[in-house]
Amino acid sequence: MNQAYKELQPYLERAMAFRTALILIEWDNETLAPVQAVSYTAKMAGAVSAAYQEMITGSELTTRLEACEQEEGLSEMEAAVIREVREEVDDLSCIPPAEYREYKELVSESGRIWAKAKADRDFLAFAPTLKKIIEFEKKFAAYRAKDGQKLYDVMLDHFEKGFHIEQLDQFFNQLKTELVPFLKQISECGTVIADEFLSGEYPEETQKKLASLTAKYLGFDFSKGVMAESAHPFTTALHNHDVRITTHYTDNISSALFSVIHEAGHAIYELGIADKLTLSFVGQGASMGMHESQSRFFENIVGRNDAFWVPLYERLQELFPEQLGNISREEFVAAINKVQPGRIRTEADELTYSLHVLVRYELEKMLIEEDLEVEKLPEIWADKYEEYLGIRPEHDAEGVLQDIHWAQGAFGYFPSYALGSAFGAQMYAHMKKNMDVEELLKKGELIKIREYLREHIHQYGKLRDSRQLIKDMTGEEFNPNYYVQYLKDKFRTLYQLSN
Ligand code: ZN
Repeated sequence: MNQAYKELQPYLERAMAFRTALILIEWDNETLAPVQAVSYTAKMAGAVSAAYQEMITGSELTTRLEACEQEEGLSEMEAAVIREVREEVDDLSCIPPAEYREYKELVSESGRIWAKAKADRDFLAFAPTLKKIIEFEKKFAAYRAKDGQKLYDVMLDHFEKGFHIEQLDQFFNQLKTELVPFLKQISECGTVIADEFLSGEYPEETQKKLASLTAKYLGFDFSKGVMAESAHPFTTALHNHDVRITTHYTDNISSALFSVIHEAGHAIYELGIADKLTLSFVGQGASMGMHESQSRFFENIVGRNDAFWVPLYERLQELFPEQLGNISREEFVAAINKVQPGRIRTEADELTYSLHVLVRYELEKMLIEEDLEVEKLPEIWADKYEEYLGIRPEHDAEGVLQDIHWAQGAFGYFPSYALGSAFGAQMYAHMKKNMDVEELLKKGELIKIREYLREHIHQYGKLRDSRQLIKDMTGEEFNPNYYVQYLKDKFRTLYQLSN
């Protein structure tokens, strides 16, 4: 180990301890913490955050970091850690602590204001808070901007490096011009797919059993992970030996099932990170988009694949004989792939999903780069839904208030969902050249698929960014054509379209 790097180590270990503690507090908040704990825990979390910021930006750490930056001959991992720490230092030191604290307080409160406005279906009750958040976001982005960088580009960079407005405009335009007319073609083709049997009396206890069986089947290791319940399913990783997923149970069997498969995909990524990266600044997934590529790969490309259900469907019928006993595997697989333009992103089918993301991308760009008035959001939101998906929300809760992201200040996050789907489709096209994916699914040999992803993506953690990982794996730059082609092939077959 490089000497300068060695001297930085104890400080990074402390920083990771703070970070891990914050993640654990957040996990507890979302799962088991009692309602009345919230405001007390927020204070404690605020103090830990402040201590973390002080440590990261303090001279003890930064002088050692600078020493490392002067070094030549650092290993790949050392260089990557230095790069990540530098980014964190710059991110946190350019913002005046008082403003940072004020912002943190605002976003810790805004979740509740948003939730109430959503429950009351009243966007205007949330609008003043959202305005303040946007002001902070723009101010912070201006502090962080380098060489005349656009503010929205600064925000995008935070979640996905190397994908800026220019590249995303191109990407989303392609989705818009290809998928909007394709969706129309499907809606008008007359093919009817039945899916009523997916909803109804699905006992929660049996759903729970199914959830843990499915997670295990996919390769989720319960000795390094746990599964809990939360309102919105999510994955939290403390490190690659402690990865936690949640799900929720509703009267629709596919909701819990595909939530589990999705979150297990996130978890398998984190669990597959190499041990030498554990508890380091590069011991997490490469980016939000890369994370979504893995979760959506498992959810859609694997989980909604007929071949996946060949060895499993009878077991599913045994768990729910009354509900699915008379439904054939073919009928079940058609139902879980049914295209149904809806108003809610998290319930969207595979084809329409990225159109929901497109709406948010266009609006974020308008809010940040074109100073769109916040009050106008619901109207423009509805117009865009009508244009791309053919439906308008009936009220704010199923429109502009449906996602929590903006209330948390997460501007620039949404595009990763669509990018991840496109990354996954490119990986799938490449994998199929190297292995018979469908045959492996039919034989239940998921381990080979998992190992392949681990070898090319998971093990690297944050050592390489998403563009590099895709290029190294597939031998070419990111190419969204794979995604469009994959969707068209899949849904043309399902809906028996001739061209
Ligand atoms: Zn996800």
